[in-house]
Amino acid sequence: MTSAVRALAHALKRSKYTVVLTGAGVSTESGIPDFRGSRGLWKNRDAMELLSLETLYYRPELFYTEGLRLLNTMRGKKPNAAHKALAWLEERSLVHTIITQNIDGLHYESGSKRVLEMHGHLRTCHCLECGNTASFQSLLDAVESGQIPPRCSCGGILRPDVVFFGDPMPPTFEEAVHEARKAELMLVVGSSLQVAPVSYLPSLSKEIAIVNLEPTPYDRTASIVIHNKAGIVFKELIDYLKTQQ
Ligand code: NAD
Repeated sequence: MTSAVRALAHALKRSKYTVVLTGAGVSTESGIPDFRGSRGLWKNRDAMELLSLETLYYRPELFYTEGLRLLNTMRGKKPNAAHKALAWLEERSLVHTIITQNIDGLHYESGSKRVLEMHGHLRTCHCLECGNTASFQSLLDAVESGQIPPRCSCGGILRPDVVFFGDPMPPTFEEAVHEARKAELMLVVGSSLQVAPVSYLPSLSKEIAIVNLEPTPYDRTASIVIHNKAGIVFKELIDYLKTQQ
């Protein structure tokens, strides 16, 4: 048990309102690569270009083959120790809200209730013409059967309910700003804190704690910084909190 993990446990117990901000790093131990980590997806191809509004509109062939393949790597995975620990903390009112940049849905799957998804999710898609919603699976099925781009029954193009580069932020971002302002403690887990505007949220809270493998731009302002794997840190944290009950 490191002293930083013990300090994090006490900060969580002290704070009356704790908001967690997660990024791709919380899911790497579930087998989903991050973007900017040392083994991240940027190393292989330009995810920013593939998953952009421009590619969706002007190069649909590329978007619905390569881009969709990239999105698909984030499906069908299982929550890891860090996701489960965050749900455990919420159940005990030690965490109040999770703001996530992830689209993999693993916080919901691990039992967390109050989750604000900043970059959308892979559960549904919608039609760019009539706005009708359908399951993400129906979009995949259409592409699988050779329909590129996939179309709604009205003839409009179906797009995933994911916030791509070039898309505006969803209305839940306002809620996230409200939560960040309300937070006595913001615990950042597995985010490089380089994707704006979500990267500004920690600056709105009273105190910041960070669990991330690599340094982030907020390390100097955070009161607790732990550079380790989230799964290891949260296992230690929960073990310690259980001894305190
Ligand atoms: P990022 O890729 O920019 O940064 C991830 C950070 O997590 C890195 O600093 C890395 O050092 C750290 N990290 C990696 N494994 C870790 C571990 N086991 N424990 C602790 N830290 C670990 O991620 P980001 O800041 O979330 O931004 C990338 C964007 O890409 C997000 O906006 C997100 O929408 C999207 N994305 C989502 C997923 C997903 O849904 N799982 C995966 C990749 C990218």
